[in-house]
Amino acid sequence: MRKGLWSRGFRYRLNYKRLPGHPDLVLRKYRTCIFVNGCFWHGHLVALPQMSDGRSKKEDVIENSACCKIPNTNREFWVAKIRRNQERDKEEQRKLAAMGWHCITVWECELKPAKREATLDSLAFTLNHLFLQDRKRVKMYPQVDENAGLLRAAETVESFNSKK
Ligand SMILES: [Zn+2]
Repeated sequence: MRKGLWSRGFRYRLNYKRLPGHPDLVLRKYRTCIFVNGCFWHGHLVALPQMSDGRSKKEDVIENSACCKIPNTNREFWVAKIRRNQERDKEEQRKLAAMGWHCITVWECELKPAKREATLDSLAFTLNHLFLQDRKRVKMYPQVDENAGLLRAAETVESFNSKK
């Protein structure tokens, strides 16, 4: 993925420790953080049972996805762990958005050889789109308020994810 972005002309920093969540890649020019998430650990496309204490009972139905299958043994433990990871992801991205960063999540399964090129093309498209949008905004509204930034970042994640 790094090679693919590099060959498409994007420059980035790796494992940027100074930002919340330590994004895997940071593209300053695009004000964008990219997280590459493992499908199992971050529960990609899995419908976890809704329980306020983050636990899961044996009889709860879990809809596994192609890339994330919760083991039947120690299920409560895995569900709680994955849910915690998901909540942490959300919180970190919320903080980054408040700081004016866009966040993009790329899933492990989207980087398999058969999908990799399409994922990278889509990522490149999204980054260029964000860049143009930001420039337009600066021209139209010199004062960017924090809430607008938050909203914009949320929309970005949505639109990137919905393209899959
Ligand atoms: Zn996946």
